[in-house]
Amino acid sequence: MATPGTAFRGTKLQTALLFGALFAAILTGQMLHAQGGDVAGFWSIAGEYLLVRPLQMLVIPVVFLSVCCGIASVGTPSQLGRIGGATAVLYVLSMLMAAVLGAALIEWFAPGAGVSDQARAALVAQGQQTFAADAARAERMQSATSTGVGGAWLSILSQVVPKNPLKDAVEGNTIGTIFCALLLGLGLASVGERGRAALDVLSALLAGVMRVISWILWVMPVGLFFFVTGVVARIGLQNVAAPVLGYIGVAILGLCVHAFIVLPLFCRAFGGGNGWKFMWSVRRALLTAFSTSSSNATIPVAIESCVTDGGCSRRSTNFVIPLGATMNMDGTALYEAVVALFLFQLFGVQLGFSEIVLVVATSVLAAVGTAGIPSSGLVTLVIVISAVNAALASRGVAPLPVAAVGIIMGVDRIVDMSRTTVNVWGDCVVAKIITRVAPDAD
Ligand code: ASP
Repeated sequence: MATPGTAFRGTKLQTALLFGALFAAILTGQMLHAQGGDVAGFWSIAGEYLLVRPLQMLVIPVVFLSVCCGIASVGTPSQLGRIGGATAVLYVLSMLMAAVLGAALIEWFAPGAGVSDQARAALVAQGQQTFAADAARAERMQSATSTGVGGAWLSILSQVVPKNPLKDAVEGNTIGTIFCALLLGLGLASVGERGRAALDVLSALLAGVMRVISWILWVMPVGLFFFVTGVVARIGLQNVAAPVLGYIGVAILGLCVHAFIVLPLFCRAFGGGNGWKFMWSVRRALLTAFSTSSSNATIPVAIESCVTDGGCSRRSTNFVIPLGATMNMDGTALYEAVVALFLFQLFGVQLGFSEIVLVVATSVLAAVGTAGIPSSGLVTLVIVISAVNAALASRGVAPLPVAAVGIIMGVDRIVDMSRTTVNVWGDCVVAKIITRVAPDAD
């Protein structure tokens, strides 16, 4: 049997392996990129099978079991209402702070302003090419443009209440699965002793799945090495036009300020304790988010890290992490505000204060509607752009073309890795704070 000492040594070794793998992957990827040729495919595929798929395979079982057991352990609907209400307030507050921070930084540094007509034309032409080359995504963006903000709400709502929960689970729709698990958890809790046997089975299954996750964590450094090597080999760390480099710099700066200053202070202010210590204790989840660019794929590791190393209660974690992976996206909210304002700057459109407020508000909405999968924030970005375009139309200003998003599409993966890390970190912080309201009974 593992003693606390051996478990701690295991965590330390895993951390060293993960950081080592990340460092080696960046070096190898950059070397491969410099050599040229299409070498990224093999690495990405190997990473996909060793890192992403094993995690994705467990997402729906973990979400269903953890939410169901978590809700049943919370008990009555009124207790659930209290915890749910507090969680929602924390989600919205932290996303708002992130979007405001992003907007303030991009307006302050203004990397898109003052670009010469010639440089802008070159960027736009290149962006249009990138946009046109990614036909599937371009189509999703065009359809998001036509449905606008109202469509975004409708899309969230239609995912929340599934017509057929099994179909949703098969298709990997986490929001519908959460809703279904939430109701079943409440139902089982309310029938008292009669629900005991079913709950025992579900929590035994959850314990088994968590054990499988702890095994997968040992393979993760290898998977991470392959996956990140593939990403760096494909994109490279140079060859980015100056304004776009400026945008990346501001986005990463904003994400760092939010992750290292705002969220730890937020954690302390709401009674979650020392946020920096907590950040270190959930590092395996943060590294998983960074390498997979997927909040959903990180759910299993985030739950494991919060409960075993982060001192969060199971009650809080089982509820906050799966829900947060789809709804609470601080990094994405910040990113949406930064990109939208950057693109308007680049196209020489002066936005007034009310339009900047609109960007902040729609960035939060778009972040809530973003799925926890790679690059999905790029698609919902269109919601923010079309809201501002509609406001500009009343001033008679020409709209920003959706194809402008192509300008930042090529470098999206780097920013996606960083914003996903902040998304998951935000969820962990809320889980830590909610632990105060929902401690474990035993
Ligand atoms: N990749 C992000 C996530 O999974 C979503 C996004 O594209 O912003 O959290």
